[in-house]
This record gives sequence, C-alpha cells and structure tokens, in this order.
Amino acid sequence: MLIAVLALQGAFVEHEAMLTALGAKTFEIRQKRDLSVAFDGLVIPGGESTVQGKLMRELGLFDPIREKINEGLPVFGTCAGLILLANRVCNDDRKHLATMDIEVVRNAFGRQLGSFHTEGDFTGVGRIPMTFIRAPYIKSLWGDAEVLARVDDKIVAARQGSQLVTAFHPELDADGSVHEFFLNMVRSRSVSTAL
Ligand code: GLN
Repeated sequence: MLIAVLALQGAFVEHEAMLTALGAKTFEIRQKRDLSVAFDGLVIPGGESTVQGKLMRELGLFDPIREKINEGLPVFGTCAGLILLANRVCNDDRKHLATMDIEVVRNAFGRQLGSFHTEGDFTGVGRIPMTFIRAPYIKSLWGDAEVLARVDDKIVAARQGSQLVTAFHPELDADGSVHEFFLNMVRSRSVSTAL
C-alpha cells in the first residue's frame, strides 16, 4: 500500500514515520509531477492551512488533488489538513479543497490557545492520546459526515466516506491507532474497487 504525504509545509515527516512503522510505504508530494505516481491514499498534514493552500494553488496541485478526493481517493487531514478539506471555515473568508461537509473554526480550540495534550475516545478505536496545537474544531457537519471523537463537547474527529479528519495530531504521539484506522479505510476501498 502506497500512501502519499503532502510535503509542502508542516508536520509531514512525522506522518511518514508513523505510516512506515505500520508497514505502509510512503512518498512525498512536492510538485505536480509527483501526482503521476499511482497511490492508494493521501495525508494532508498539520502546519498552516493558509500557507499550504497557497502553495498547493501556486504549484498546480490544488485542482488535481481536489479531483482525486472527489473521485474517492482516501484522504486523512490533520489539523491544518482538516481546515483544507472543510467546506466551510467560520472565521476565515478563504476555503480550500472544500471536499468534506464540515464547518470548522480555526485557531479556536483549547483550554489555552496554544497547545495541550489530553485523552479521548475515538469511535472504533478506543481511548487514545490527543495532542492539539493551535487547533481548529468542527462546529457542525452534515450530509453523511459522522462524528468520531469529541473533547469538551467539541467535535475533534470526523469521517465522510473515504475522508478522515482530526483536529489533533496523532502523528505526534506513540499511538498508531488512528493511522491504522486510516490504513483500514484505504484497504477497504481497494477491496471494493477491485471487486
Ligand atoms: N492554526 C493552524 C491553521 O489554521 C493549524 C494548526 C496546526 O495544523 N497545528 O492552519
């Protein structure tokens, strides 16, 4: 299984390490020609959504990536990645890929506005560590998007079809279960398309 990791900015190396430890192969998407490789899933890392959105557009990655996700490519967005996938961003005029039926609030979640660490229940996975860094939260979701985790009554993880998002950074903790959850989404999609 080959997982592409968007490597324009932010915490992409940590995702690669986690996915490799779980037995997946990874490669980095840095420019348009990297998209010609056949891959099974895509990770959009945390970092700064405005910067990643701008670079994706400038490098000609934006439309082809959006198209692949709309065609069903499994995607996992963490933190800034979640913002990039959101159909609505409450406190920002910009929206980006807008492939997922979630409304998010940027830089708004936390007992302090910086970072914090907690534990929470993640549907289908169990109790896991959660590290938040200037995190967004999901204010509402619609269509067939479903909640996977909440912290302090705020939605911090969701799924819609082949799209998975977390407001926290599972790649920064030792627990690989959210990445394993994503790899299972990729596996089940590969099975269904092969049938
Ligand atoms: N605050 C960042 C943004 O709005 C996200 C932070 C993160 O990815 N850790 O893009």
